[in-house]
Amino acid sequence: MDTKIITELTKENLQLVAHALRSGEVVAIPTETVYGLGANGLDEEAMDKIYAAKGRPSDNPLILHVSNAESIKPLVKEIPETANKLIHAFWPGPLTITLPKSDLVPNRATGGLNRVALRCPDHAICREILALAGVPIAAPSANISGRPSPTTAQAVYDDMNGRIPYIVDAGICTIGVESTVVEVRDDGITILRPGGITKEMLERVVEAVSYDPFLSSQNEAPKAPGMKYKHYAPDAPMRAFIGLPKAVAQAFTDVIDKQTTKRGAFLVSQETYDLLKNNVHGEFHVYGHCGDAVTLAHDFYKTLHYFNECGVDYILAEGVENSGLGVAIMNRMEKACGGNIIHL
Ligand code: AMP
Ligand code: MG
Repeated sequence: MDTKIITELTKENLQLVAHALRSGEVVAIPTETVYGLGANGLDEEAMDKIYAAKGRPSDNPLILHVSNAESIKPLVKEIPETANKLIHAFWPGPLTITLPKSDLVPNRATGGLNRVALRCPDHAICREILALAGVPIAAPSANISGRPSPTTAQAVYDDMNGRIPYIVDAGICTIGVESTVVEVRDDGITILRPGGITKEMLERVVEAVSYDPFLSSQNEAPKAPGMKYKHYAPDAPMRAFIGLPKAVAQAFTDVIDKQTTKRGAFLVSQETYDLLKNNVHGEFHVYGHCGDAVTLAHDFYKTLHYFNECGVDYILAEGVENSGLGVAIMNRMEKACGGNIIHL
């Protein structure tokens, strides 16, 4: 199969894509978080193609994307008041809500769970495609399972060339990490996966917000099945450090000094870069000022793809504190590093 990247986002082209989706094809679509691998969320065979293209384990459920809040009504048993508040505050946006599913939603979309995950993305082109398709679109990240998520059409192409007919190219994703996934109950909400909407933001709308215990203890089973898999990993082994730029630069130097014959790649803040640039050779990506979780999130996956292309031997990254958007980005970085994170 030839994979075509669609760069001209005309009405005709979006209609072509919507038609392909409605008739059971898999198409990569842009969102504000990462690129998604979309298929008709009411069509089991279409969703089978997503699992095949990604090599995704079949117990890992999909998120159904809708063009507006109204469209979730037929997909769920009921919409509790808490869910309405969240929808009002955060949709369209990077918040996925799980609710008890209606009979219309196939088990294929939920990995056999009785809840369905729903999101309305804050991306005009995406929502136009969803509206034209007229069906909920199941869309996990458009990468091969276990590899970094794509935030550009080129990164999608690198993983999906030959596996899907179309990639809709709308430039780089603005947020760069996946959505926050929450389970909504009558008495509060649980964050199953940290993402673009932070705990603090949720607490402004809902009183009782907790994290799934799995997120801090590897002994529990996660309620978002996808969280148990090794994820987001670049080709080269990666290690991360969190601390003041001086301490991070020193820790990097200690590692680099022992890796004399190997080619390193470094994801760092401007301040750490300034301390290293005269002494260290290798691939650098500077994401912004020290502690800036927003620019780190925006650049993170793109940089891992770039380091893969460079074919480096090892990667060192500078992390940020575990608060606000930092919780989401450090959750991804920890998985990319296989847990190899050192607090200085
Ligand atoms: P991705 O496919 O990369 O966008 O990831 C989707 C995430 O949402 C995974 O971690 C899934 O396990 C999680 N998820 C999807 N549906 C549900 C559900 N019904 N209940 C709990 N987690 C879900
Ligand atoms: Mg994913």
